[in-house]
Amino acid sequence: MKAMMLTGIRQMEMRDIPEPELKNPDDVKIKMTVLGICGSDIHYYTQGQIGSQKVNYPFTVGHEGAGIVVETGKSVKRVKPGDAIAIEPAMPCWKCDQCLAGRHHTCRNLRFLGCPGQAEGCLMEYIVMPEECCFPLSGSLTPDHGSISEPMAIGVYAVKKSGGVKGLKTGILGYGPIGMSVMLAASAEGADSFFITDKIDERIIIAVKEGASFTGNPAKEDIIKRLLEKENSGLDLVFECCGKQEAFDQAVEILKPGGRLVVVGIPEFDRWSMDVEKTRRKEISLQFIRRQVDCVETALDLMKSGTINIENMVTHRFPFKSTKMAFDLVSEYKDGVMKAMIDFES
Ligand SMILES: [Zn+2]
Ligand SMILES: [Zn+2]
Repeated sequence: MKAMMLTGIRQMEMRDIPEPELKNPDDVKIKMTVLGICGSDIHYYTQGQIGSQKVNYPFTVGHEGAGIVVETGKSVKRVKPGDAIAIEPAMPCWKCDQCLAGRHHTCRNLRFLGCPGQAEGCLMEYIVMPEECCFPLSGSLTPDHGSISEPMAIGVYAVKKSGGVKGLKTGILGYGPIGMSVMLAASAEGADSFFITDKIDERIIIAVKEGASFTGNPAKEDIIKRLLEKENSGLDLVFECCGKQEAFDQAVEILKPGGRLVVVGIPEFDRWSMDVEKTRRKEISLQFIRRQVDCVETALDLMKSGTINIENMVTHRFPFKSTKMAFDLVSEYKDGVMKAMIDFES
């Protein structure tokens, strides 16, 4: 079968590798139909690493996938051949202290699709996953919904961890697919209004379409000043969704005393810094987010019921063989890209 493998920094090649086989009774063999390109895939493509996680070439990334079940192990009950499914990329051990505490996203022995040293990703024609990672796409759910359920689950989880959004003036700094997922999930939970910033004007246009009451481009203007003119007392809650120090600092400025800062973005640097005086005097609560746990099903349900609509999220599509073009486009933030999808040949 064909696999699109990273072979160096900004290098990628289509290679022939053996098809994976079922090993365990709960294994499911999946033919990939669609894959969403994630910011973390791009980090591996352009930097060869995220923090201490380094790519050993050749390596396949990709973890926002949907596919069709082609074969199932003896004990598999929740899916059958022919089913369209969303793929949850995390494979926890279910035995460590974290798993036993219901925190299987921080499993000590986690294997995550497309994560160096853990598991190859799904930029290949077939993959094998345990049955618990397979979520059937029923009703109106399409393969795109299946793929988007991964970033959307992070939005749902971040909102859950924020301590609640109902009636709150909510900031989202960085409006890529994760910022947008947070907004859609927070909107579904009854947030009062959204204050959204991004350095890409096309993303701002999408934020306006989605109903943001304030938008600004921090590359072009003093967003703190204008935001606080509009909302003098500041915001209740801010989600940092771009992994930038300046956004973290802006969040501290625009939060009201007692406000909460939720950090979802993945920085390319090693240390955050913060204003001691302001964080202390305002008594800012700080919550970091590590992916998500148990939120894929909720994300799918919210999309199935129409509570969350992703029509403005997918902006670009590429065939599997043109994956490199897609990665180049996304890595350079070209052409107003929000989420780019890879379509596998049927
Ligand atoms: Zn992702
Ligand atoms: Zn575990």
